[in-house]
Parts: sequence; C-alpha cells; structure tokens
Amino acid sequence: MKLKILGTQSPYNTKRHNCPGFLIQDEENLLMLDCGSGTHRMLKYPKDLQNLSVIISHLHRDHYNDIYNLQYASFVFHNQKRINIPINIYLPQSPNRINEDIRAESNSFAEYYEISEDTKINIGNMEVTFCKTDHPVETYAIKVMAGGKSIVYTSDTSFSAKEKIVEFAKGAYLLICEASLLEKYGFPEINSHLTARQAGIIAKEAKIQKLILTHFWPEEKAKQYVKEAKKEFKKVITAKEGKILRL
Ligand SMILES: [Zn+2]
Ligand SMILES: [Zn+2]
Repeated sequence: MKLKILGTQSPYNTKRHNCPGFLIQDEENLLMLDCGSGTHRMLKYPKDLQNLSVIISHLHRDHYNDIYNLQYASFVFHNQKRINIPINIYLPQSPNRINEDIRAESNSFAEYYEISEDTKINIGNMEVTFCKTDHPVETYAIKVMAGGKSIVYTSDTSFSAKEKIVEFAKGAYLLICEASLLEKYGFPEINSHLTARQAGIIAKEAKIQKLILTHFWPEEKAKQYVKEAKKEFKKVITAKEGKILRL
C-alpha cells in the first residue's frame, strides 16, 4: 500500500494546509479516507476518479466538504467519456439531513453505501473495517489491511473511546491519530477530541509501529504536537500535505 497525506488541519483549510484527507493506493485501486476542504486539489484528474472509493468517517464539514467537488467532477468527466466507473462513496447514516443531501446530488457519477460498525469492505486486496468512536456525531475509526500490514485512522474521537480504539488498532503498522489539542492548554481529559499526549498513549498501548499525528489547529506549530506525544511514544511524526509513505 502507498499512503499519501492530503490534509491535516481543522476546522478550516489555509494556503498550504487542507482539512483531513488520506489517499491509499494498492495496485490500481484508490481509497480516500475523508475528503475535507481542499483535499480534492491533491488528486490528479480525471485519472484518480477511476477506481476511486471514498469513505467519509463522519459528517462534520471538515471531513466531507470536498465530496461535492468530487461528485461534480465525476459527473463532468463521465459525460466527456473520460471515466467509466462510478466513484464508490461510503458514509455514515446520520445526521440524516446531510447523508440525504450528499446522496441527492444528481450531477454526480457515484454509487452510495452506508457504513456501520459491522461493515466490511473489500477493495481489490484491501480489506476495510470500522470501529465506532465517541464524538458528537456518528463517527468511525477505519482500518485498512493489505499484504499483511494495516493502517488505522482514528478519525475524530474522545479519549473516552480509548479502550475500543486500542483494541481496534492493536499491532497496526501505521496509526494515523487525531491530535487536535495540546495538554498544556488545560483541556479536560474527556473532550470530543484527543490531545497529542493521549494519541501517544493509544499508540503505546496498541503497540503500533509508527504514529502519524493529524487534525491540527491552524495557529499551532506542528512540532508542539510531536513534542507532547513523544512523552508517551517515540516513533511519531506529524502528517504533512503531499507526504507519501510506502508500506
Ligand atoms: Zn468531527
Ligand atoms: Zn474533524
């Protein structure tokens, strides 16, 4: 598998940073995990729209805003006969209003599927499973396995779901973990997001190989998150737009 980081920032995108998005490639198959604001500009058109599956971890705008760009692009390129396979879009059922709004987009060349904790998806050699996190809306951590290695993406979560996420991520090669907060600002232990230190604790307890922190506050320096997570887990880096990792 090849992982390309598309977006690392929340709640809004800026000149060099996009909202959350990750692109995993295995042979000819492309799997996009989240499509936050700005991530679509990291794709190559129309090539990447062919054989593309998109999983939206939850229906918060920083994680799905660009789905509308992908839908419309798929519609136009299909009309031009430059793509002939619809995009597969996987999304949570709730909030219903947003789910329905995405599915109702008629100018789109896509097929839609709902995800739950029991969902298993096979995309070529990739097997994808889900774990519900604790966040204000229905949210899933996502595990992608292929060739004996796995990538786990936590999406957004409270530390109250720690035990579940540790179990889900056990032994993963790569853990992409949200680290929205820094301990030094005195956030309560249970919040709707993780601190970098809590991300480090999850990595340590799940015994993963490598930790990638993401979901950064735009005004904060990325190295602050690494410094804090390193108190718990040494093999940690920050996610950066355009960075490619091969597994
Ligand atoms: Zn969220
Ligand atoms: Zn978010």
